[in-house]
Amino acid sequence: METFSKIQRKELAELHFHLGQSVRPDILWSIAHEQGIRLPSKDYWEFYELITLGKKTEVSWEDYHELFKWTELIQSSPIAMERAVYEVLGGAYRANNITLLEPSFNPMFRNRGGERDLDQIILATLRGMEKGLAEFPNVRAGIILLLDRRLPFATNEIIVKKAIKYKNRGIVGIDIAGPNSADFRYEDYFALYKTAREAGLKTTVHTGEDGSAEEMEHVLKALPLDRVNHGFRAYTSPSLLKTVREKNLTLCLCPTSNMRVGFIKDAAHLKEVIRTLYDSGVKFCINTDNPSMLKTTLIKELEFLRKHEILSEEEIDQTVRWAFEATFIPTEPGKNLYL
Ligand SMILES: [Zn+2]
Repeated sequence: METFSKIQRKELAELHFHLGQSVRPDILWSIAHEQGIRLPSKDYWEFYELITLGKKTEVSWEDYHELFKWTELIQSSPIAMERAVYEVLGGAYRANNITLLEPSFNPMFRNRGGERDLDQIILATLRGMEKGLAEFPNVRAGIILLLDRRLPFATNEIIVKKAIKYKNRGIVGIDIAGPNSADFRYEDYFALYKTAREAGLKTTVHTGEDGSAEEMEHVLKALPLDRVNHGFRAYTSPSLLKTVREKNLTLCLCPTSNMRVGFIKDAAHLKEVIRTLYDSGVKFCINTDNPSMLKTTLIKELEFLRKHEILSEEEIDQTVRWAFEATFIPTEPGKNLYL
């Protein structure tokens, strides 16, 4: 019988995961019914297959984003967001001993094309977080608002304004995600990122995932950043590894997510990536990205690295410390800022 590793007893931090794909399918099913949403199936297990990558083998980058549609639609109301974040916070603590978490979401993908009020969506999310924090007082949490490459600049600008408005209520940072689009230019976002930082928010961005090391190098020059989501492509470029070190950036890696869409081929490729990063002195932490959809957990991710001898237990400990150090939440350990 396999003994429990130290990982299963550790306090963990998770800095890179999307609320849309983090709520358990049975809870999403319940939220959908509570709101009277007409789902494509009346059968729970068909719904389960629809919103997870379970049996699907060939998963394209487009399929991956297509799956977000249902989960985001179900979460497109204040009542749904309140429950979603509350359930995620308690679930992360109970199942994975995660005591620090920074879930992200895009409020523009929760307002049914402008039908719902953005402030109400954000406030309900913060209320759900506070409710969770009141039940689990040793957990710390902060929300990251996502901008999206497919949205026009003016729409993304509104998201940043909302992030600043609710900075003292529990929004801790901004991020850019979504598939690349022809009109999107990182340079256009420099001033907006600078404004967010000057207002006291922290910044991250999705890069070095589907793109190349050159793209990532460009993004790191274009935006003032505190962390990077993914960024694993840096392993191919010694000069980029140096830049990541010099800028003191922590990479928030998501092994299963990258392997499921084929950006990282297998465990051997993952080992090459992670060993290169670790041995080059680049700081990184491990995350799930979309845990419900990918049927993974933070403990599973860390166990995978241990079992495949990608990192030792001591090295895993170091990545957990890096996660706690790289938090966007401005507070002392053991204290909740937002209560
Ligand atoms: Zn992500």
